[in-house]
Amino acid sequence: MTAHEGERAMVIAGAGHVGGRAALALREFGWQGRIVMIGAESHLPYERPPLSKQLLTGEREALHCQLRPAEAWQTERVEHVIAQVEAIEPDTRVVRLKDGRRIQYEALLLATGGHARRLSIPGADLDGVCTLRTLDDAACIARRLVADARVLIVGGGFIGLEVAASARKRGCEVCVVEGAARLLGRAVPAVLAERVQQLHERNGVTVRLGVAPLAIERAADRLLAISLSDGNTMTADVVIVGIGIEPADELARDAGLAVNRGIVVHAGLETSAPCIFAAGDVAIHPSRFSGLPIRQETWQNAENQARVAARNMLGGDAVSDEAPWFWSDQYDHQLQVAGEPALGERSVRRLLADTGSIDFHFDAGGRLVGASGFGPASVIAKDMKLARMLVERGLSPAAELLGDATIKLKALL
Ligand SMILES: Cc1cc2nc3c(=O)[nH]c(=O)nc-3n(C[C@H](O)[C@H](O)[C@H](O)COP(=O)(O)OP(=O)(O)OC[C@H]3O[C@@H](n4cnc5c(N)ncnc54)[C@H](O)[C@@H]3O)c2cc1C
Repeated sequence: MTAHEGERAMVIAGAGHVGGRAALALREFGWQGRIVMIGAESHLPYERPPLSKQLLTGEREALHCQLRPAEAWQTERVEHVIAQVEAIEPDTRVVRLKDGRRIQYEALLLATGGHARRLSIPGADLDGVCTLRTLDDAACIARRLVADARVLIVGGGFIGLEVAASARKRGCEVCVVEGAARLLGRAVPAVLAERVQQLHERNGVTVRLGVAPLAIERAADRLLAISLSDGNTMTADVVIVGIGIEPADELARDAGLAVNRGIVVHAGLETSAPCIFAAGDVAIHPSRFSGLPIRQETWQNAENQARVAARNMLGGDAVSDEAPWFWSDQYDHQLQVAGEPALGERSVRRLLADTGSIDFHFDAGGRLVGASGFGPASVIAKDMKLARMLVERGLSPAAELLGDATIKLKALL
């Protein structure tokens, strides 16, 4: 081991969105020593939103998903180690890699994201049954989305529906099965979920609610035969499973850190062990609205928490308390959700032109806890930006004012 390798380092487990952004932020905030970013994927850090959208439609290439060009990591002296972190040893402040290497840390960030959940039914591991989390997954799915291919999507959440829209753009025949009685789960109010369903149906997607796959078999001509819970059988060339993620919290759990379907962190993103932080999809933190633990799986959260974690790894006292926000692009439409609409007890709708709307959600005490916009991106973008600011600033204008499209949202800020 050289003297350089023996130096204590800022170590990041997971070279994804949070890992990459945090490494760059550590330099930006003045850390002069080593930064070691360890990732199991063979790629430099990249952004995942295009994986279910432009990467599948062919409108973007993998290289253009990178967080920063390859040279930037050298310029910033970030050591990118391609390896699996096998264990952490909080007592000796050591990270152990699968290949046997041990790296000592000054502070450690767990930015391990999540693993795509798989079906636990017979045939779930057949060739042609895919999940989507990584660039490699996206490349594999993109190869299968050829014109007229029959695509079965299991799960009517964001990833499943974005893939459905991309597959239609590629000329595939698409069916979405969702076990629940509605699309998009609790993150999106039911009224919006219905409109999203109608959008997909108008674009030629078959949506079957309350239906789950029971078994998958290899049929003739490389087709897959899927038995469904409603008694029907379907055939498909490819099955894409979008049923959520499992937070990759195993390193923390094995090391005895507090874990509760995600790594438990305080508002400053410290875990229950000294000098170990967690951020991004894997971290479960107190909600700014309810104080209850929430775990966010969003691009914006990755951006925000990476910087908070970096500050605090260097001894700062930053807090992660931004209101949640995410978007989803499907066809020419965009869905945006700010805050936590699930906490809402009542809502009011503001209509935007003929095609868009924003629903504002209030809790039992009349506090604005969320806003969800839906419509063509060009129609909702401007007002949704203002709606997001209202939620972010904790303002609660009267429902009548928010619902009245003749009153400018800017005037309510
Ligand atoms: C297909 C797709 C589309 C999305 N679209 C949107 C969108 O439209 N809008 C939006 O707001 N959000 C979107 N998201 C969510 C957003 O991309 C994630 O919230 C963000 O990537 C989370 O960043 P992260 O760093 O926490 O996790 P990741 O980016 O997943 O990075 C985690 C990394 O850690 C590595 N790792 C895990 N365990 C280990 C280990 N033991 N050793 C070494 N490395 C390890 C993994 O291999 C991975 O590279 C999308 C996500 C996906 C998958």
